[in-house]
Parts: sequence; structure tokens; C-alpha cells
Amino acid sequence: MSKSVKYCESCSGKNKASAKFCDDCGKAFDKSKKAVQDKSPSTEKGSGLEVISLITSIFGFTCLPGIGFIIAIVTGLMSPNPKENKYTKAGITIGSFGLIIPSFILGFLGIIFGALEATDDLIWMLILGIIAVIGSGVGLFFFIKWMKKPAE
Ligand SMILES: [Zn+2]
Repeated sequence: MSKSVKYCESCSGKNKASAKFCDDCGKAFDKSKKAVQDKSPSTEKGSGLEVISLITSIFGFTCLPGIGFIIAIVTGLMSPNPKENKYTKAGITIGSFGLIIPSFILGFLGIIFGALEATDDLIWMLILGIIAVIGSGVGLFFFIKWMKKPAE
């Protein structure tokens, strides 16, 4: 994450935002001057994948059902700092829940219909339903695991 720092006017030494005197030359800081944000290059520079991740996650709802969400997750994870970028965080979150929620609901409905009409014709519904519910659970597990993982 970016740290709040300020630079000395006389020697350009890097100091904490709360510092009253420069660590390098001892010059007193002007209190009226605001600390500037120290933007580390890793979080500032993007590879373009961040925006693709967010855009495809939104397309997942419309013209690219399923595929859009998958592309959003893959491009988000491929970007340099997915956990520190708001676009990839949003893209991966939307993509994950865009896949997890429908597969859970459809899987659940499949189990209900398949179990109610447990004929040979509808047994595939039961099987697909169980697979979809398990799949959504696995997806949720990996999403939570990724969210809890500290940023690099
Ligand atoms: Zn100084």
C-alpha cells in the first residue's frame, strides 16, 4: 500500500508525513504544507488487464454469460497486483459471484426437480445439479481463500 510521506524542500530527503524536522538535514517543515502521496510504481502502473477484467465482468451479465465472468477472473489474476487494484478486485469479485450464485441456484433447482421426478429421464438433472452445487461451493472456497491471502 502507498505510504503518506513528504519530501524536504532543501535536501529532497524522504520523511514521514508526521515528521517535524527533516531526518537528513534537520530543516523544520512548514506545517501548512500537506504531505504528498507516495505512489509506488507497482500500484500505479497497470498492464491493461485490470480494465479488461472489470469490463468483461460487466459483460458477463449481458452478451457473454459465463465466459465474461471467466475472462474477468483470469485477466484479473494475471495482472501484476490484483489485490491492490480496485478494478481487478471488482472484476474478480463480480466474476466469481457471477459464476457461483447462478450455478448454486440452478444446481439447487436441478436437485429438487431431479429428486421429485426421479425417473430415468430426469436423473441427469439431479446429477448435474449436484455437480453445479459442489462447483459453486468450490468456487466460493477459492474466492474466500484468495480474499484472505495478503497482498504481495
Ligand atoms: Zn532535508
